[in-house]
Amino acid sequence: MHYFSTNRKSPAVSFREAVLNGQPDDKGLYFPSEVPIVTELCLSEMHERLYPEIAFDLMWPYVGGDIPDNVLFKICEALNFEFPVVEISDGISALELFHGPTLAFKDVGARFMSGCLQYFSKDKSGKTLVVVATSGDTGGAVAAGFHGVEGVEVVILYPKGKVSRIQELQLTTFGGNVTALELRGTFDDCQALAKKALADTDLQKRIHVTSANSINTARWLPQQLYYFFAFEQIGAGDQPVFSVPSGNFGNIAAGLLARAGGLPIKKFIAACNANDVVPEFMRTGDYRPKPSVATLSNAMDVGDPSNFVRILEVFDNNVAELKEALDAVSISDETTAQTMREVYKASGYILDPHGAVAYRALADHISDHPGESGIFLETAHPVKFDSVEEILGTHVEVPPAIESLFSKHRESIEMDVNYDDVKDLLLAKI
Ligand SMILES: *Cc1c(COP(=O)(O)O)cnc(C)c1O
Repeated sequence: MHYFSTNRKSPAVSFREAVLNGQPDDKGLYFPSEVPIVTELCLSEMHERLYPEIAFDLMWPYVGGDIPDNVLFKICEALNFEFPVVEISDGISALELFHGPTLAFKDVGARFMSGCLQYFSKDKSGKTLVVVATSGDTGGAVAAGFHGVEGVEVVILYPKGKVSRIQELQLTTFGGNVTALELRGTFDDCQALAKKALADTDLQKRIHVTSANSINTARWLPQQLYYFFAFEQIGAGDQPVFSVPSGNFGNIAAGLLARAGGLPIKKFIAACNANDVVPEFMRTGDYRPKPSVATLSNAMDVGDPSNFVRILEVFDNNVAELKEALDAVSISDETTAQTMREVYKASGYILDPHGAVAYRALADHISDHPGESGIFLETAHPVKFDSVEEILGTHVEVPPAIESLFSKHRESIEMDVNYDDVKDLLLAKI
């Protein structure tokens, strides 16, 4: 197994190099040279096995021998939380991805990547600096995943006043090797500064810098696992449609990879908010990035989704085949809020705004295709978004697992949007 760049200018590399580099120099994304196929037998025996065992078998070919089996197994054991499929209404179930330490699906990729980086850092001189910009969920998952990992320093850039109360606690209460930078600016400013640091050759000469967003192969690949875990629960039968709330399109690209690897899934729906670059592409054939617009489902406010090139790669750039497998829709904030109220009223289930976008897209699809059934991804716990209580007019219980956050000491460094200041701080981590 090797990893080539989707831009095809940078050389192909091993799994280890793909993880350490993060992104190829030609600004493409790393993509596996082959998609390992899962056998019928493996699928039919899945329900007899534990999730870390399934994860180990599925990830093993992708790692291509770069991590010893016993270490890879330990890394897979970190995915020791639940991924329940919960029926919400007739033919529609939620795959709940919020039972990890920071209550969002990004825990899966962050924990897997931190295990890989920890192993690869052992025989490497000097520290690794992980720089990540967040609109809320990524930062918390990366902080939790990398806290205490030897040889790794983490700097998280987040926009002041623009993350929720719980997200901010998750970013700022770890301390140790995790530093939270509170920038007086927007998420786009944070992203631009993080990109600048990653491309700064002077900085790279002094310390190895990498990112931990879904561009990184080790964060992206394990996101296919929970589609298999859902299959393990529902069994073979009618193939489900999966509706995935999509922003940077890492999650859905991983699902499409799982399907290409033999997981029986009828179709995917990319459920977007007002940021509709991909729905527009599917309609017109023109891919036109736009500046992002702010919505209720803010983790999906992306105007130029990075991982879309990986989706094209899954289909060998055959757009006709892609259209068979993927629908893409855009759901407004008004419809999102209305959906949250309707579902709460009908079933008592509290959707978060991201899950609500996916629920709506799936419910619309099923009403057009009677007889089909589907699963939408509930990507984060509703308590993480302050808007939920306002929309539903009800209190959202804080899960006991994170209650302790409220008594922890918060620490962040507040700064203006200025690269030189950020760089000084990064250099101080060496
Ligand atoms: C990050 C995130 C998304 C978007 O996932 P992508 O892989 O970027 O498409 C959706 N929902 C929540 C809650 C998220 O945190």
